Amino acid sequence: MDILLHIPDPAAEAWRVAFARALPEAAVALWPERSDARFDYAIVVGPTVEHAAALGRVKAVFNLGAGVNAFWRIPELPPGVPLIRLEDAGMAEQMAEYAAYATLRAFREFAYYAAEQRAGRWSPRERRDKAAFGVGVLGLGVLGTRVAAALRDLGFPVSGWSRSAKAVAGVRAFSGADGLAAMLPDCRMLIVLLPLTPATTGLLDRRTLGMLPGGAMLVNLARGALLVETDLLEMLDRGHLAGAMLDVFAKEPLPRDHPFWHHPKIEITPHVSGLTQIEPSVAQIAGKIRALERGLAVTGIVDRERRY
Ligand code: NAP
Repeated sequence: MDILLHIPDPAAEAWRVAFARALPEAAVALWPERSDARFDYAIVVGPTVEHAAALGRVKAVFNLGAGVNAFWRIPELPPGVPLIRLEDAGMAEQMAEYAAYATLRAFREFAYYAAEQRAGRWSPRERRDKAAFGVGVLGLGVLGTRVAAALRDLGFPVSGWSRSAKAVAGVRAFSGADGLAAMLPDCRMLIVLLPLTPATTGLLDRRTLGMLPGGAMLVNLARGALLVETDLLEMLDRGHLAGAMLDVFAKEPLPRDHPFWHHPKIEITPHVSGLTQIEPSVAQIAGKIRALERGLAVTGIVDRERRY
């Protein structure tokens, strides 16, 4: 079995070693050392136009990430080749950590206390009503469900939104445009874990952000283009939103002159909320390759029409 691995340096060799260990029966080649060969499977970090031809001949393409929006720029990826994404593989726990930090920081007013400390003031505040501190999760998929469960377990009233109706224990589930409009007014925190598709691009704009209650916070952990960045700035500067924690941006790395860098109500992280982990990712993909070789069905196949 021949496997093509296209991973940017410097991690490439570590991935090759891990795949070779997990699939000793396979010959694992790093792109472009055997770019013209016939491969059975391709494992890539997003697609590149140069290897589109090689991808067209494989039995399946594995994306070393959960989001596949970058693939639609490659029209050569033939419809018959399954595109398989990572499912959790260690990312859900990371997302739950990030969301819990953002939510607890806002709820317990740690930014306020940090400012008071810098000003040399001892200024305790009353405990806030947790039952009134609603947390909304957009996207109740692999990652969103884990985040919603973690926040529910911390005692927050959690609601979640998905395309199709979902049931998650202890979480108020909404779907469709009406569901979003019904859910947003109760969300003091809005955590975004939607895929970037034609249906979700620009979803977080002046209109939807305006449905959040005054003083709400936005946390975007999914893809930058879900958010209309100028609309967020407007909602923050008008005082409708209290703040935002952003891990993803329309353009990455975030341009040096972007207003988000120095905005007092925005905290940014450099697309690290859910980093791909070698061990669980290799184990998951190796397991799926073995299943496919035995003619079995696997999960995580991207729906080309829905684009996620
Ligand atoms: P997933 O399992 O496919 O879940 C996607 C969820 O979004 C599902 O609940 C889906 O609804 C919902 N959804 C999709 N389109 C919708 C629409 N038009 N309206 C309402 N809901 C919609 O994906 P995942 O594994 O949780 O990952 C989510 C995203 O996180 C990825 O696509 C990726 O972009 C992002 N991500 C970011 C990082 C990072 O480091 N920042 C890391 C990993 C992933 P249904 O349940 O009805 O299908």
